Amino acid sequence: MKIFVDGRYYGERDAKVSVFDHGLLYGDGVFEGIRVYHGRVFKLKEHIDRLFCSAKAILLEIPLSRAAIMKATVATCRANGLRDGYIRLVVTRGVGTLGLNPRKCKRPSVIIIAGKIRLYPKAIYRRGMEIITVPTTRNLHSALNPAIKSLNYLNNVLAKIEADNAGVEEAVMLNAAGFVAECTGDNVFIVKNGALLTPPLSAGALYGITRQTVIELALEAGLKVSEPNLTRYDLFNADECFITGTAAEIVPVVKIDGRVIGNGQPGSITRRLEVEYHALTKVSGEPI
Ligand code: PMP
Repeated sequence: MKIFVDGRYYGERDAKVSVFDHGLLYGDGVFEGIRVYHGRVFKLKEHIDRLFCSAKAILLEIPLSRAAIMKATVATCRANGLRDGYIRLVVTRGVGTLGLNPRKCKRPSVIIIAGKIRLYPKAIYRRGMEIITVPTTRNLHSALNPAIKSLNYLNNVLAKIEADNAGVEEAVMLNAAGFVAECTGDNVFIVKNGALLTPPLSAGALYGITRQTVIELALEAGLKVSEPNLTRYDLFNADECFITGTAAEIVPVVKIDGRVIGNGQPGSITRRLEVEYHALTKVSGEPI
C-alpha cells in the first residue's frame, strides 16, 4: 500500500508521524473517512468541505487548498489501484513541543490512507442490529463540539467499549440532557407513522454525510423528515430504526436496550432507503 504523507508516498512500514506530533500527543487534528465505490470517490466534495470546517473550528490551517487535497485523495486511490474501499484522510497539528500550545507546531501533516474496508457481517444487514444506550454521554457542544471530526475520539471510544462489554456492535449516546445524540461512529434515525426523524445536530451529533444523503433520498421519495429532540422512549416506540455512516452505510436496528423495535425485522422504509442509497453509490462520485 502507498500512503500519502505530506506530498510523498511511503510503504506501510515507512509511513510514520513524529512522537512530537500533537495529533498523537493531544489528539489535536481532524480527519475524514471516505468510501470508494466502483472506481469513484463518493461524496468527496462533502467530505473535504467538512474537513475544512472541522479545521476552521480548531484554528488549524490545512497546508493544501481544497482542490489540491481532492486531487491528492484521488491520486492516492489511483496509486493504490483502488476501485472499492475506504480512505482515511488525516490532518494533524504537526510537530511541536511537549507543551500543548498549537502555535508551536510549525506545519500540519496531511496523511491519506486508501485501503480496504472492514464491514459489519452480512447477517447484521439481513437481520438487523441490536444496540444499547450507554452511560457515557456525548460531549457537550459547548466543550468539544461533536460537529468537529477531530482526532480526539475518546468520548466515542469509551462508549464503544461499553457497547463491546455488553456484546453489541454499536451504542446510542445520549447528551447531558438525556436526549439522543448519535452512535459512536454513526448517526441514528427512527421511522414513526411513515415519517423519518433524526436528532437535531444541536443535540450533539456529527453533520453526517450519509445522514444528509438519507434525508435527501427520503425527501425525494416524498417522506416527511424532521429533526426533533428524541428520548429513549421515542427509540423504543419507533416503527423502524436504523443507523447511518460512511463505513456502515444504512444498518437496520431491531432491538434497543432489550426492547424490540417494530416487528423485530428491518422495516420497509429502511429497506427502501438502503436500496436507493446503494443505487446512488453505483452512479455518483469523483472518478479515480
Ligand atoms: N457520527 C460519528 C461520531 C462518526 O464518527 C461518523 C462517521 N465518521 C458518523 C456519525 C457518520 O458520518 P458520515 O455519514 O459522514 O460518515
